[in-house]
Amino acid sequence: MSSNNCGITIALSKGRILEETLPLLEAAGILPTEDPESSRKLILPTQDPDVRIVIVRATDVPTYVQYGAADIGIAGKDVLIEHGGQGLYEPLDLQIARCKMMVAVSEGFDYAAAVKPGSRLRVATKYVNIARQHFAAKGVHIDLIKLYGSMELGPLVGLSDAIVDLVSSGNTLRANNLQAVEEVMPISSRLVVNPAALKLKHERLQRILTDFEGAVARQAA
Ligand code: ATP
Ligand code: MG
Repeated sequence: MSSNNCGITIALSKGRILEETLPLLEAAGILPTEDPESSRKLILPTQDPDVRIVIVRATDVPTYVQYGAADIGIAGKDVLIEHGGQGLYEPLDLQIARCKMMVAVSEGFDYAAAVKPGSRLRVATKYVNIARQHFAAKGVHIDLIKLYGSMELGPLVGLSDAIVDLVSSGNTLRANNLQAVEEVMPISSRLVVNPAALKLKHERLQRILTDFEGAVARQAA
């Protein structure tokens, strides 16, 4: 199916995950031959002729790995839950790009009253599966509105009562007079592996996994 039969292909996305991933790659002896952040290439060679990096959209990382177009990838837990995780082995929490999935509302909105049994809440989010699971577990009925970005605008213009979004510093919420009212779950980035590739290229992939594990443990210490 692919031109990917002996080498290793790693799927990464630009942005904050890449920044925090580069030290882990280095610990695994994987050194891109040019700066992935500034390069316009979609396929980046590394100093190891058998290892290449492909740069994809964050939400597409699980798809590339699921279909074996990449052997391994790094994606946020948020992305993995929304994707569903079919066809992916998720062996390692890299503990990078850490943030929280939160429910946020306009300052002054009575969230406690809005989630009482029998009431309905309009929720705008990019993370529809996570939001649906969260409110179902609380027994709260919601009307879900799917957005692709700038969720913070939702409550400000009356599109929704609440949003479900990733929060790290809380600066964006504050700048828009929103407040976080509930944590849905902690989020960090995970290593994902194609299970068939793990069998076929076991030695090389297992070594990368072990190197990543060591780097994560050192980083935590
Ligand atoms: P795009 O911005 O191109 O639409 P995206 O929003 O999916 O794509 P990023 O904003 O780079 O891409 O986010 C990628 C991942 O980084 C997310 O899936 C999440 O796991 C993590 N992340 C997002 N926001 C934060 C944050 N505020 N702090 C820490 N990690 C975050
Ligand atoms: Mg983004």
